[in-house]
Amino acid sequence: MTALVIAEHDHAGIKTATLNAVTAALACSAGEVHVLVAGSNVGDAVGAAACIAGVTRVIAADSPVLADNLAENLAAQILPMAPSYSHIVFAAIANGKNVAPRVAALLDVAAISEVTKVIASDVFERPIYAGNVIATVQSDDAIKVLTVRTTSFDAASPTGGSATVQTIEGVADTGKSNFLGREIHRSDRPELTAARVIVAGGRGLGSAEKFMDMLAPLADRLNAGLGASLAAVDEGFAPNDWQVGQTGKIVAPELYIACGISGSIHHLTGIKDSKVIVAINSDEDAPIFSVADYGLVADLFLAIPELVAKLGDA
Ligand code: FAD
Repeated sequence: MTALVIAEHDHAGIKTATLNAVTAALACSAGEVHVLVAGSNVGDAVGAAACIAGVTRVIAADSPVLADNLAENLAAQILPMAPSYSHIVFAAIANGKNVAPRVAALLDVAAISEVTKVIASDVFERPIYAGNVIATVQSDDAIKVLTVRTTSFDAASPTGGSATVQTIEGVADTGKSNFLGREIHRSDRPELTAARVIVAGGRGLGSAEKFMDMLAPLADRLNAGLGASLAAVDEGFAPNDWQVGQTGKIVAPELYIACGISGSIHHLTGIKDSKVIVAINSDEDAPIFSVADYGLVADLFLAIPELVAKLGDA
């Protein structure tokens, strides 16, 4: 059995999610783990992938057709390789979630999404009903196509490996989609899925200005990433890629500070693996308090400036 991990990368380097996926792949396969790095000008990413502990082969597909992560082209690249593998493993983040179902459909196998535990090579745990129930699923498919929750698998060491590198032809453009443009929200703050501390805000912040006025000074002092509830994103308080929860990012920081967030099940499913959850909410019956390790029933517009003042200069 050999597992293939589809690398998440930014062409110049490998994203941490790939390291989590490698750990899941090692748990799936008694044999080898290979990594596919598909993109354009991916030399550095290929080099980084070859150093991941536990990876024995890196397959490089370097082509302009793969430059923009078009799911149709990436799926077409993976398809001819698939019969050589027992498992095809994607990180359950935006790109992987986009491509995995296409690969599974083209192979006529089930896509097993959001795997949180590998029990055996064909038996997996995955959350259902917004994380209220954990299903144990068994797959009889010859090739298992999985997306794995990055917060559920430790990152493999990015160093210590010495994989061989195989170069393959880039796939021909499927012509099914075109890349038009990308809006990138640049931030110096830690990326949410890798942040040790996250300060998140909800509808209780009231406006985009207040969101930043309140939360940015706190995040600065704690070197934290900024997150938001879906309601805060929908209201335009925060950009889309800050959304935490079932349909946003699944996070597992050491400290998650939820400000003006009620704690709907859809939000909680994205934060339940956080080590310590702190909630600030003026409603003492808010559901967030049922999961919070520390809860402060207070007006956040008073409590946060007080907290920032106590933390001192950034
Ligand atoms: P609200 O529920 O309106 O809560 C605002 C809170 O702010 C209240 O508890 C209030 O007491 C508090 N507050 C107000 N003023 C103050 C103040 N001055 N000081 C302190 N506290 C104050 N939601 C997500 O977050 N992420 C998801 O990924 C997600 N996915 C979803 C998927 C589906 C299929 C569906 C149906 C819903 C999803 N939702 C998701 C939406 C979710 O159900 C909730 O509607 C949303 O999380 C509510 O956001 P909120 O807590 O910011 O807003």
